[in-house]
Amino acid sequence: MKLNVATIAQQVPDEASAYKLLEELRWGTTPVCPHCGSDRRAYFLNPSNGSDRATRTGSRSQRRVWRCADCRKQFSVLTGTIFHGTKIPVRTWLLVVFEMCASKNGVSAREIERKYGLTAKSAWFMTHRIREAMKREPLAGLLRGTVSADETYIGGSEQNRHKDKRVIQTNEPVQIVPGHRTDGWRADKVKVLSLIEEGSGEVRSVVVPDVTGATLRKAIAEQVDMSQTVLQTDELKSYYVLRPELAGHETVNHSEDEYVRYEDGRVITTNRVEGYFSQLKRSLDGTHHHVSVEHLPRYLAEFDFRYSTRKISDGQRMERVMGQVAGRRLTYRPLTGGC
Ligand SMILES: [Zn+2]
Repeated sequence: MKLNVATIAQQVPDEASAYKLLEELRWGTTPVCPHCGSDRRAYFLNPSNGSDRATRTGSRSQRRVWRCADCRKQFSVLTGTIFHGTKIPVRTWLLVVFEMCASKNGVSAREIERKYGLTAKSAWFMTHRIREAMKREPLAGLLRGTVSADETYIGGSEQNRHKDKRVIQTNEPVQIVPGHRTDGWRADKVKVLSLIEEGSGEVRSVVVPDVTGATLRKAIAEQVDMSQTVLQTDELKSYYVLRPELAGHETVNHSEDEYVRYEDGRVITTNRVEGYFSQLKRSLDGTHHHVSVEHLPRYLAEFDFRYSTRKISDGQRMERVMGQVAGRRLTYRPLTGGC
């Protein structure tokens, strides 16, 4: 089945078929036990004559339940995933995952709430769980080859804040960035560093406390195989400390209106990262409105994921997310900071 909102809505009319589709996306043809990892044999526990069964409380459920032939434990396709323990229909999950995979600017929790008749809390929690599944694999390899890097500042405008909340002064060292404003306006903003690997088109974004050389070096060393990389940046001096470790460092001089430079047949530019930032900001302003510093990394994971997979179809992107839903449970407490 070609995955899109229309086909999911039509071909997945109820919960039983939503379970089947999710099983197919996650497991293919063979169920895998989340308790012991066995994929040898599992018994389907639902009655074969109907699609629903009585639960312990006596209500009817369409949840498809399996029993592992090896460890004898029961499981469903939701066990141990971002969907674990959800009260939201699986069919709704499938539709929302697809929308978040397909929409360039993302989908706001408010929109999900309205469209699917959920509470604000459920809709918000749902979008954040899906973002968890969009995070890159913890053991993803380092970027290498030609990698462009740039930083941006994200946050609300000072004028819109209540007088008491305005940031008047900062103790942070203010970086002198040619071509950028250097006064206090951005002191309270969040700094984001993004790196794009030219070969694969993969992007990785991280929140950084400042843009000093030491901070950038640490952040870049965590994502980039430096000795195998030619880094392309603007003329921000902080990047210069990385030079001894890099295979090369090429810069464009923004203060002199230089955005692309050609040198020995090579293209030197940070345009890709800047294009990424403008898309990100359009979405944060237009779709999501208020993103707190605390939750920004999850939005970055969502944007990084969509950008890094921009060459594949929406359906393939959804399959990719479904392959990453396990082991990423997110409970309400860390998500809300305990409140
Ligand atoms: Zn098992």
